[in-house]
Amino acid sequence: MNFLKAVYEWLVGFFGVDQLIKIVQSGNYNALLTKDGILAVVQPLFPVVLFLEIVKALLFKKFKAIDYKIPFFSYVLNAFIGRFIAIAVVVFCIGVFEKYAPFKTSFTWYWFIYGYVVWEFGHFIYHYLGHKVRLFWCLHSTHHAPQAMNLSISYAHFFLEAPYADFIRTTVCILLGVNPPMLFLIMFIDGVWGGFIHIGEHMLKNGRLGFLGRLILTPSHHRVHHARNPLYMDTNFCNLLNIWDRVFKTYQPEEASEPVVYGITRTMQPNSFLDAYFGEFGALFKDVYRAPGFKNKFLYFFMPPGWSHTGAHKTATKIRTEFLNQSFVAKQEPSATVAEI
Ligand SMILES: [Zn+2]
Ligand SMILES: [Zn+2]
Repeated sequence: MNFLKAVYEWLVGFFGVDQLIKIVQSGNYNALLTKDGILAVVQPLFPVVLFLEIVKALLFKKFKAIDYKIPFFSYVLNAFIGRFIAIAVVVFCIGVFEKYAPFKTSFTWYWFIYGYVVWEFGHFIYHYLGHKVRLFWCLHSTHHAPQAMNLSISYAHFFLEAPYADFIRTTVCILLGVNPPMLFLIMFIDGVWGGFIHIGEHMLKNGRLGFLGRLILTPSHHRVHHARNPLYMDTNFCNLLNIWDRVFKTYQPEEASEPVVYGITRTMQPNSFLDAYFGEFGALFKDVYRAPGFKNKFLYFFMPPGWSHTGAHKTATKIRTEFLNQSFVAKQEPSATVAEI
């Protein structure tokens, strides 16, 4: 019976329905109109939609357990270790950096917009470094390893990634005056949206969301981010507002002529959790071991993935630029042929 009780508690925790159950048991439905009541309803939405996504895939015989394997094992590790470290990091950053903020915001709609733009800036920095610094890519690549897209992918993270991401995002927000209660609200919205943009094609085929795609970052944009097509590599780093991608020229819409191919460019053992979790560390240490001299060894940790001490770089920027140049030449050639005739 203890086992069944533990399973029940885990399910209640996973679906985030504990608050909702309490409200239903108390019969006080007015509580649903309070901030905590709204949170109690919104919180279970994501796990419930993930559940529906799996059920729908099962009904249409498109369910492949293997697509959920890496996220599942990552979720288990994160639930037990990563989450607690991340919470500690957020509390630490607020405690240390709050006194250095030159001004403090209040809880108004215009400061909220300011706070969200600042949060996205922090998110952009963390995410950009996660792709451009080899050591941080080791932490982030677990999220990019799965070769399919579904809601469970938002659970696929190396357990130290959340603490590292929250250290940067919280520090940026607190130093720029975002007040902690507003920061928690933004974190919550970011978490819900950050989960939703991983919705799979069998649940939402076209993830462009119509005109909304012009204003915010959609599942389609994030599918592009998870692609290993040369055109799509290292683009769309934002989460909800993609202004920083537009500012820093990393914005890339999904092209109908370029179907998304998910995964990372390194040859992986297909669907291996251990390879998704530790494979990039192994590849980095191999490169460091082989590199001549201390300087080269050191550089491997901090240069972008694909950087080589021999000069034969295969970085995402190089691959994408070469692809864009080739496409440009290909587009030019037919008219040149006509001109020659
Ligand atoms: Zn990424
Ligand atoms: Zn993602």
